[in-house]
Amino acid sequence: MGEEPATARLTRPTAIILFGSPGSGKGTQSKYLVEWLRIPQISTGDMLREHIRAGDAIGLAIQERMRAGSLVSDELVNQLVLERIHKPDATGGFIFDGYPRTPAQAEAMLRLLSGVGAGEVVIHLIVDYNVIIARISGRRACPKCGTLYNCVSRPPKVEGVCDLDGAPLVIRDDDREEVVRERLAQYERQTQPLIEFFRAVTDRLIEVDASRDRPEAVFERIKSELKDLVRA
Ligand SMILES: [Zn+2]
Repeated sequence: MGEEPATARLTRPTAIILFGSPGSGKGTQSKYLVEWLRIPQISTGDMLREHIRAGDAIGLAIQERMRAGSLVSDELVNQLVLERIHKPDATGGFIFDGYPRTPAQAEAMLRLLSGVGAGEVVIHLIVDYNVIIARISGRRACPKCGTLYNCVSRPPKVEGVCDLDGAPLVIRDDDREEVVRERLAQYERQTQPLIEFFRAVTDRLIEVDASRDRPEAVFERIKSELKDLVRA
């Protein structure tokens, strides 16, 4: 313990593309990777919102499309990504968040990466949906103070009652089993074609089971899968 360095460096510029369903701990793994490799997380959603906030030409174009009820074009998203990965903090590598969303975007992304001499690693956090559903639908919340509980992993001292103020606990709408199932199904519809695309075109697809172990243990497995791409 404590012998392993807390940070490492990618040996060549690399894009990390992380896929994980709701409840897979994707956000946590992404944060761990950012800290470990000291690379930025690039969120296309954040970039689009920034342009809208700034009210610049791109922002106005985005708003116009959204007002017309259409999606932001792949072309624009790819252009934003290309600009972003040229910034100094991204020269060593970066993690994509919310990108690519379609096989067409993925194809464009690979062209874009090879254009800047960057490689790619796709990490797929595999989960057993039954485990996720049990975990999420076990969540309970206190409507009074907002404290979260879990029937299995973090039960209140007295069943159904908040430890802090005694209020009866509730299930939030987002945590209802049918809502969770629908979100998982939606994730699957969107992501499966992307995973299949990457399986066919890259030898850097890493699949890690993330449904049972603690996030730290999942991250250790990710690190060991990446070991030939980094140095301390
Ligand atoms: Zn409470």
